Amino acid sequence: MYLTKVNKMDRNSAQKEIHRLRREINRHDRLYYVLARPEISDRDYDALMHRLLELEEQHPGLVAPDSPTQRVAGEPLPGFAQIRHPVPMLSLDNTYNEKDLREFDQRVCKGLDGQSYRYVVELKIDGVAVSLMYRRGLLEYGATRGDGTKGDDITSNLKTIKAIPLSLDSGDGAIQELEVRGEVYLPKKEFARLNDIKQQEGQASFANPRNAAAGSLKQLDPRTVAQRKLSLFVYGIGRPPQNIDQHYQTMEFLKGLGFRVNPNIGLCRGISQVIDYCNQWEQKRDTLDYEIDGMVIKVDSFAQQRQLGATTHSPRWAIAYKFPARQAVTVLRTVEFSLGRTGVVTPVAILDPVLLSGSTVSRASMHNEDELVKKDIHYGDTVFVEKAGEIIPQIIKAVPEKRPPRAKPVKMPKECPSCSEPLARNPEEAAWRCLNVSCPAQVKGRIEYFASRGAMDIDGLGTAMVEILVNSGLIKDYGDLYSLQGEQIMKLERMGMKSAENLLEGIQKSKSSPFWKVVMALGIANVGAQVARLLVQRYCNMEKLQNAGCEDISQIYGLGPAVGSSVENFFANKKNLAVLEKLKKAKVRMEAEETPGAPQTFAGMTVVLTGSLQNYTREQVTELIVSRGGQVTSSVSKKTSLVLVGSEPGSKLDKAKSLGVKLIDEREFLRMVKGL
Ligand code: NAD
Repeated sequence: MYLTKVNKMDRNSAQKEIHRLRREINRHDRLYYVLARPEISDRDYDALMHRLLELEEQHPGLVAPDSPTQRVAGEPLPGFAQIRHPVPMLSLDNTYNEKDLREFDQRVCKGLDGQSYRYVVELKIDGVAVSLMYRRGLLEYGATRGDGTKGDDITSNLKTIKAIPLSLDSGDGAIQELEVRGEVYLPKKEFARLNDIKQQEGQASFANPRNAAAGSLKQLDPRTVAQRKLSLFVYGIGRPPQNIDQHYQTMEFLKGLGFRVNPNIGLCRGISQVIDYCNQWEQKRDTLDYEIDGMVIKVDSFAQQRQLGATTHSPRWAIAYKFPARQAVTVLRTVEFSLGRTGVVTPVAILDPVLLSGSTVSRASMHNEDELVKKDIHYGDTVFVEKAGEIIPQIIKAVPEKRPPRAKPVKMPKECPSCSEPLARNPEEAAWRCLNVSCPAQVKGRIEYFASRGAMDIDGLGTAMVEILVNSGLIKDYGDLYSLQGEQIMKLERMGMKSAENLLEGIQKSKSSPFWKVVMALGIANVGAQVARLLVQRYCNMEKLQNAGCEDISQIYGLGPAVGSSVENFFANKKNLAVLEKLKKAKVRMEAEETPGAPQTFAGMTVVLTGSLQNYTREQVTELIVSRGGQVTSSVSKKTSLVLVGSEPGSKLDKAKSLGVKLIDEREFLRMVKGL
């Protein structure tokens, strides 16, 4: 994303807006990458990022190493080992129109001081980026892009994909090391087949092929992955071999080694040819049997790529031209107010069914009250629907000219749709919530979440079973699961001895789930897998977590006051404590497992980081310190034991100096990590 000049904002106002934008972008990253539930379109997301870049360019002093502009988004997945990429896997800068493509070309032209150059133009396959490492001709490992520096080791899953060669056709086997990059995707037909099966089994369907590909690669059992006929196109190489100096040539080379290279590659001289090629594919995209979300334009020569360089987020020699999201027009018939397990009430539009990006849409989220007011939505309105990030349909706008006479505006209800208790809105939030902890819809949602995959993973306890158990009065909360008896279950509708035994076995097994999963399963607002792991690294048992308090929790690097206050509020509620007591009585794991190994070099120390390090991301540093007994906090005080200083440190360095806190550099840090 590059910037057109606008009037410069004063430093104070810029700082405020930068903070707001970072918070907002981080929230959308989480919704998109972790929860696969984006609330805004890619275009709106890119506009936020664009504005942030613009402000940071105007005020370079305000750029921070943890700004979203300085990294590739993505999070490690629980259950997979991590692999460090030998060459970082960057994202792509993107554009949506011809004007921006021409500006990209002007920057390339300027950066190359008038040399002649050509572009390779490829389809932008809508899937998941992976890296494949071959050593001495054999596939050694495969990983996701992750945060760009470190990805998840998904070798066993990738080996099930037939398009991925396990050994290379390099004849004499002379290639010592080769890192190939490509996009794993799910063909449209296979996507439809998988969703049919899901529907027959009463499970929620995948929202789109990209989501299905990402979800498949996250499976812990490669046998499940093997059943989902994923495929792959390769589009790049980590470090090119010495005798190759162009991207197009690389693609030919990879083809020769037995990789699947997409045949629709354009070689273009001049940006007008590029634009023509992109336009042709925008028209023809539906003829392909896989999804593309745009085109990728790359400078062909590697020498010129090196000359143009890269930012921390994306190369300057390439750009993605994204096709506009597909929109459809339909009519809003009515609105349902759905209730989540944390009590949040969300308006859901019920629409006249309409075909959008290959699927029929009849429901769309309207998020919250502020959205309803901003978009001025009325019952019976003609509305534009779009798939946000091509996943969740949402209403973009209403067409007031087509509004039926005397149509009523859509308003949030005053009472809970499940228990009829009054709803409340915290002034700092857009959400209306039902605060009744015994509200039946929330109770079921909480139990279902507790038992779900990723949390306590109790086999046989899905939506339908929870519904039966709660409606029959056998359980009122997830703590009651552990006192269920076989005879009670067998008396229930459609339950035989075998299913009762299976359910009890699943419940029994869940008692030894790792402690972080127990913390996650409690259903504390803002505490998902990632946060639960961080909490457990700091507080090794439930008692310590319970007594931690908002302030202490907010100090953990990567967390903030929102998590701090949710955890504090959860443990302040007597009803929650009573449920927790049932878990304790049932001997569900209440403390972290012993992790063998790392010397406790940082035991009892409080460490602050400032500036950026060459070899580690902040998350990695935090992990190294915490696993060695220390803690990482965000601000320097008299209690700080050490400040780890990277390049371009911020004001924390001055503060540490003024307080006389010990400073260490990256080399010293490495020495301590190694226990030297
Ligand atoms: P991206 O999807 O825009 O582009 C980069 C990726 O394209 C690469 O990592 C690779 O996986 C893929 N790709 C496919 N074909 C390729 C080819 N021929 N050559 C090279 N790469 C190819 O970038 P991203 O970093 O994966 O995602 C960032 C984008 O995701 C944002 O720009 C935004 O549009 C979207 N996003 C949306 C939200 C939201 O809330 N809507 C939130 C976060 C991100």
